[in-house]
Amino acid sequence: MSDIALFDSHCHVDFHHFDEDRDAVFERMREQGVTRVLAVSVELEQTPRLEALVAARDNVWFSVGVHPNHEVDVEPTEDELIRLAAHPRCVAIGETGMDFFRHHVDPALQQTRFRTHVRAAHKVSKPVIVHMRDADEATLDILRQENIAGCGGIMHCFSSSWSAAQQALDMGMSISFSGNVTFKRNDELREVARQVPDDMLLIETDAPYLAPMPMRGKRNEPAYVRHVAECLAEVRGVSLATLAEQTTANAMRRFGLS
Ligand SMILES: [Zn+2]
Ligand SMILES: [Zn+2]
Repeated sequence: MSDIALFDSHCHVDFHHFDEDRDAVFERMREQGVTRVLAVSVELEQTPRLEALVAARDNVWFSVGVHPNHEVDVEPTEDELIRLAAHPRCVAIGETGMDFFRHHVDPALQQTRFRTHVRAAHKVSKPVIVHMRDADEATLDILRQENIAGCGGIMHCFSSSWSAAQQALDMGMSISFSGNVTFKRNDELREVARQVPDDMLLIETDAPYLAPMPMRGKRNEPAYVRHVAECLAEVRGVSLATLAEQTTANAMRRFGLS
């Protein structure tokens, strides 16, 4: 057992990658002091699976939303998002945002989808989980236009500049770092992470993707968020206990948990 309590604010533990050993994954997580996770949606067909996951565990919450670069037959509507988000353990809308790294989904459609999510989030007063990849300007513009400050949100797997971070922070967004902050070449990203205010910092794995050092290349899992926390503690010059305390309190506050 561990004496710290970390919150993995973004992972995909319901994915098939964990079907063979999900219980063991949760056990290893507990051993590493990772006491809570948010299981994030990428398509609405996933919602029953997420509902089943949270019904079986008291330390998992979930979100509803459709990933910006995920091809779907039917676009999500505001009403559908609002209806699904009514579940008592649904604490966020997303992941949504803009992603120009790959063009599976047309940018114009991504933009419409993103706006739909933010509008639904306003109606249900839940934060928005924002995925921003190679699309800083487009993402930040929409956040501004849709008044994200009204419902708040999280820049997940943040990997952009300090200027982009500042713009997001000015809108009241939390900044969440994942495994890529631990990668050797990412000095610049660590410098961004050093500057994020104590009360706006979150940590995540985005498991099964993007395992942190020294697990890089393996399947990621929530237990490894500890490596992200250790890296950020070092960068920010605080103890792991302090970093854990801050980021867990931030996640609880952001997701409206007590
Ligand atoms: Zn993402
Ligand atoms: Zn994700």
